[in-house]
Amino acid sequence: MSKRDYYEVLGVSKGADDGELKKAYRKLAMKYHPDRNPDNEEAEIKFKEAKEAYEVLTDPQKRQAYDQFGHAGVDGSAGGGFGGAGGFGDMGDVFGDIFGDIFGGSRRGGGGPRRFRGADLQYNLDLSLEDAVRGTDTKIRVPTQVHCEVCNGSGAKPGSSPETCGTCNGIGQVRMQQGFFSVQQTCPTCRGTGQTISDPCTSCHGRGRKEESKTLSVKIPAGVDTGDRIRLSGEGEAGENGGPAGDLFVQVHVKRHAIFERDGANLMCAVPVSFTTAALGGELEVPTLDGRVNLKIPAGTQSGRQFRLRGKGVKPVRGGSVGDILCRVDVETPINLTKKQREILQDFEQSVEDGGSKHNPKSGSWMDGVKQFFDDLKS
Ligand SMILES: [Zn+2]
Ligand SMILES: [Zn+2]
Repeated sequence: MSKRDYYEVLGVSKGADDGELKKAYRKLAMKYHPDRNPDNEEAEIKFKEAKEAYEVLTDPQKRQAYDQFGHAGVDGSAGGGFGGAGGFGDMGDVFGDIFGDIFGGSRRGGGGPRRFRGADLQYNLDLSLEDAVRGTDTKIRVPTQVHCEVCNGSGAKPGSSPETCGTCNGIGQVRMQQGFFSVQQTCPTCRGTGQTISDPCTSCHGRGRKEESKTLSVKIPAGVDTGDRIRLSGEGEAGENGGPAGDLFVQVHVKRHAIFERDGANLMCAVPVSFTTAALGGELEVPTLDGRVNLKIPAGTQSGRQFRLRGKGVKPVRGGSVGDILCRVDVETPINLTKKQREILQDFEQSVEDGGSKHNPKSGSWMDGVKQFFDDLKS
């Protein structure tokens, strides 16, 4: 069997330090960990491959031998490999030190039965822009698996108790012979719990958990944005076999706002302005999240010009200074003109032309550009 390069397995460079190796291994192990991929042979192989690469590359002596001689330098000393010598039985050692906090109760100690940590749940919360900016207290209803109180999570009818699984002798894993390889698999009889229940609890049908929906209060801090997650520790699914509960993640999604578009700490909006106000100057009423404010428009304001209302934006949830409101002015072209209005504008246009290009700051340079363009084509 040809083995993949250890650095390639972990997706790190040859010069990777221990921190990088740990990070890469952690990522792969989380993805391919057998607890997360029950009965998935491919994941199991990937997991072992990553484990082996990690073990070799974090051992300075083995790493040196591997760098010098390749797999030949470390074969037989890498511990386990694909030969099944170690298998999953010794997984706890390497695994324990880096994953203790993540897998919690699902990590086995001393080959005893598994206590499954409950699954993490995600709740998608739609928020109005106002609530996201100011923060809010909200209640959410989440369907969840809760600990069965009738059997106290054991799954066995009160008065009886679960028995040690006869297939795996309570270990939760069985060794299967596949060709040359001996592979450890989750016990098919007890599905890894190490226990069987002959007299199941009638309330939860032997699962030790029940589906229920619960109402949770969630405090949304001011300044959250789409993509932010709020973690409610221990509010996910109840664990199996008395394992710890998972976490609930509230995923924030800020709804579209009629006026503002959010850009980080800033709020953007477009405000229509009549062309006379733009030309003569004046005051505009513009919206903020705390009500309207007046904005002075200088004479000769061009369409698209942006005005900044300092400190009227969002205070970011992770700290930092309060953003601004950026108001873009959209100069409006009047429509449905009366005969009289048309005449006024025609008179106006005549007087502007008489004044030359000084009244039309853009047209002058634009016309020069067009002329240059045609001159270049001719030459
Ligand atoms: Zn029960
Ligand atoms: Zn079993």
